Amino acid sequence: MENLSDRIKNMSESATLAMAAKAREFKENGIDVISLSLGEPDFKTPKHIQEGAKAAIDENKYFAYPPVNGYLDLRKAICDKFKKENNLDYTPDQIVVSNGAKQSIINVMLSLINPGDEVIVFSPYWVSYTAAIELAEGIPVLIKGSIEDDFKATAEQLKEAITPKTKAIIFSSPCNPTGSVFTKEELEKIAEVVLAHEGLMVMSDEIYEHINYSGAHASIGAIPGMIDRTITINGMAKGFAMTGWRVGYIGAPTWVAKACNKIQGQLTSANCSIAQRATLTALTTDLGPTVEMTKEYKRRRDLVYDLLNKVPGFKTNMPEGAFYFFPDVSSYFGKSNGETTINDASDLCLYLLDKAHVSLVTGDAFGDPNCIRLSYAASEENLREAITRITDALSAFN
Ligand code: GLU
Repeated sequence: MENLSDRIKNMSESATLAMAAKAREFKENGIDVISLSLGEPDFKTPKHIQEGAKAAIDENKYFAYPPVNGYLDLRKAICDKFKKENNLDYTPDQIVVSNGAKQSIINVMLSLINPGDEVIVFSPYWVSYTAAIELAEGIPVLIKGSIEDDFKATAEQLKEAITPKTKAIIFSSPCNPTGSVFTKEELEKIAEVVLAHEGLMVMSDEIYEHINYSGAHASIGAIPGMIDRTITINGMAKGFAMTGWRVGYIGAPTWVAKACNKIQGQLTSANCSIAQRATLTALTTDLGPTVEMTKEYKRRRDLVYDLLNKVPGFKTNMPEGAFYFFPDVSSYFGKSNGETTINDASDLCLYLLDKAHVSLVTGDAFGDPNCIRLSYAASEENLREAITRITDALSAFN
């Protein structure tokens, strides 16, 4: 007899990973699926980072448990990175290195949230934020940005959503899934609201910071007064094409970092030693490969913007960062081709997977049921082919 906990029964599956698994299944059955569902760089980890990992193995001394929060020299390098690139002042005891930014986020949620506490989530949001809040028995409160405003919720919306139960807020900039980037001025307005509420904490997910086409990345923690109110979340997966290495980290007030260290000590212990050494190489050498990858993403962004604008019924904004488009596809809802009726974005995604063999993720999972997410971290050839297939498959409804 299955007798699972309510916790797991109530948890929604990660929609990004579920769709990636479905695409993998199709491929294993010999179907040529173009996978644009998972947000995963299609580049290899830069050679010098690979070499850093190999050298660490050859040094023959990185096989034991590392300190739970990460090697000291790595945490120092992360402090230097935060100072140099983000103007954030952290000391090594304020850094915790984890198994991916996803674990960093869950560590923080479990450290801050009591049952019934509210966490304000800027929506559209990354799929795992709400799951992490709910795991900590908190209540996600969504404030929603519209496509006309580049999907960016405002400081005014934040102010209205705050109640005596609000413990924290979370957002990503550049944003997964919309590609929107908060300007420094917008962050200042958000910070003003936060600072007016004693104890309110900000989780600022900056994992796409390098994939930014709008110029400088702004960190909310660098705004005067905010360093004590901000947990800056980052990781190696996106900017350094290191998804499989599983390295995330936070910079946080000491009391938060200590709590995350304690939780991680009971859950997973430290992140893999060799992945940490590779990360040290990545953070102490120049950003050349990251800059080159970003140039390529920008080229693809421009290409996909043009192509998506030609798909009948798709409404698209111009993302300024990350590697996603989040088109509104609601013009298809209620339409039938005689065989299939598209009731919502999930139906559309399943139809496109089935008929066009292109995998995408439904916007429901990101808080906007009118949209679908397309990752353009794929080759130009695949992107062109995918959008041709999408257009052809949808022509049955036009
Ligand atoms: N963050 C990526 C995405 O949104 C990777 C998958 C995941 O962990 O959700 O697709």
